Amino acid sequence: SRREGFSMIPNVKWEDVGGLNMLRQEFERYVVRRIKHPEDYEEFGVDLETGFLLYGPPGCGKTLIAKAVANEAGANFIHIKGPELLNKYVGESELAVRMIFSRARTCSPCILFFDEIDALTTKRGKEGGWVVERLLNQLLIELDGAEQRHGVYVIGATNRPEVMDRALLRPGRFGKLLYVPLPTPDERGLILKALGRRKPIDPSVDLLAMGKNTGCENLSGADLAALMNEAAMAALEEKLTSEISNSDASSPCTIKATHFEQALSKV
Ligand code: ATP
Repeated sequence: SRREGFSMIPNVKWEDVGGLNMLRQEFERYVVRRIKHPEDYEEFGVDLETGFLLYGPPGCGKTLIAKAVANEAGANFIHIKGPELLNKYVGESELAVRMIFSRARTCSPCILFFDEIDALTTKRGKEGGWVVERLLNQLLIELDGAEQRHGVYVIGATNRPEVMDRALLRPGRFGKLLYVPLPTPDERGLILKALGRRKPIDPSVDLLAMGKNTGCENLSGADLAALMNEAAMAALEEKLTSEISNSDASSPCTIKATHFEQALSKV
């Protein structure tokens, strides 16, 4: 996106995240409360991890939760994409890493989010991997500067934790590993509710029940977002058609069960 690499406070709230309650609690303790009430942690002399690795299948809310953490903490958010870091600044990747951390310190409290972080580590040791090697070393140097990292929290995300360079996972780096699983049937309902928060869902539609529908089996959060979008689109189509034919203009235009059925047949 246009904002890539720049800092801003995202507009994602906890309410926008469906399910993932354990993760939310962890991040409340480890990041949000720490940023809002540092004195508590100082009083008790608690020293906690500042680096996290979110791992799990695609589209299950890793980016979303990282943004919500920043929003809830009132912290800035810097979104870095692993592959871009590697390719966009050819020959200057190390400098880019230094600059990213320096920018994060300047705008602390800050969440530094590294998406597809595995891209930085897969080629290490292989031929032509020296760029990655140097980039990775610079990253480790910056991560280890934790003492100077006041108020900078790093969150990495990957679908392939098994290819991650072990050195990155040590305490003080991306030290706390958190699994972001596919949603359970109940969680699918909660995700649908979160996704429908700002949409004209018909009151007759039971999104919690829909999450348990067999048609939703194995769908990820991203799939459910696509489903919600298709249903909204079907409702909009109906509204436009009825406006053109000028028939039944009085019926309220909401997203109904039939629209979800149409959407389910597409997703
Ligand atoms: P990837 O590994 O592909 O980067 P990700 O785990 O970072 O995926 P997100 O980018 O957070 O996934 O999710 C993609 C979209 O799917 C979100 O913008 C949101 O619309 C929807 N989504 C995914 N998970 C959830 C969730 N738990 N609650 C609400 N919406 C979700």
